[in-house]
Amino acid sequence: MSVSENIKDFLKNEIPSNVKLIAVSKTKPVETIMEAYQSGHKVYGENKVQELVDKYEKLSKDIEWHMIGHMQSNKVKYIAPFVSLIHGVDSFKLLKVINKEGRKNNRVMDCLLQFHIAKEETKFGLDMEEAAEFLKSEEFKKLEHVNICGVMGMATFTENEATIRSEFKELVYIFNELKKTFFSDKEHFKEISMGMSNDYKIAVEEGATMVRIGSILFGARNY
Ligand SMILES: *Cc1c(COP(=O)(O)O)cnc(C)c1O
Repeated sequence: MSVSENIKDFLKNEIPSNVKLIAVSKTKPVETIMEAYQSGHKVYGENKVQELVDKYEKLSKDIEWHMIGHMQSNKVKYIAPFVSLIHGVDSFKLLKVINKEGRKNNRVMDCLLQFHIAKEETKFGLDMEEAAEFLKSEEFKKLEHVNICGVMGMATFTENEATIRSEFKELVYIFNELKKTFFSDKEHFKEISMGMSNDYKIAVEEGATMVRIGSILFGARNY
C-alpha cells in the first residue's frame, strides 16, 4: 500500500474519529510527505527543529506542524512563527521562552506538558510536583502567549501490556488532577497525547485524544 492509502486506512480502521492522528514524518523526505498529503491528512509531527523548519518551508502552508521531540530553549525561535502544537514542554524555563517567542510573533502558542511516566531513565518529562510548583505561581499566571492544552507522555518500550497500560493510566490521572486543580475553568485544557505505533491501541482505550504514529504509516526509519 502507498503511504497515502496507509493513512486513510489507519484513520478509517484503527482509531475513532475523535482521536487526532499526528503522522510522525521524522527522517522521511518531503516527497514522502507530499505523497501522504494526497490522503487529505494535514497533521504532521517532527522531533528535530531543523528538519521541521526545512519541511515547513518546502511543503504546503496548510499543513499543521507538531513539534513532538525534546525542545531546547535556544531553538524555540525557529519554529515559533508557524508551529501548531509543542508536545514536549518539560520545564518552566522552556515554557517562559515559548511565551517570549509567542509574544514576538504575536501568537498564543499551544503547548502540552510532557510527563515522565516510563520506567526508563532516559525519557524526558516533568513529575507532578514540579508541574504543580510552577502552575500555582504568579509568574505562570502572567504568561499570556502560551496556552497549555493538556499533557503528553511516552510509555516504556516493552512488550508488557500491563506496564504500558498502567503508565498511560498514570498520565490520565495526572491530566485529571491538573484539570481539577489548575485548569477547571479552561476549556482548552483537554488533550492527552499518548500512543505510538507499538502501543496506540492501549493508549486509545485509556483515553488518548492524540496519537503520534510514524512507522505504521511510513514504514520503518533508517537512521
Ligand atoms: C518517533 C516518535 C513517535 C512515533 O514513533 P513510531 O514508533 O514510529 O510510531 C512518537 N512520539 C515521539 C515523541 C517520537 O519521537
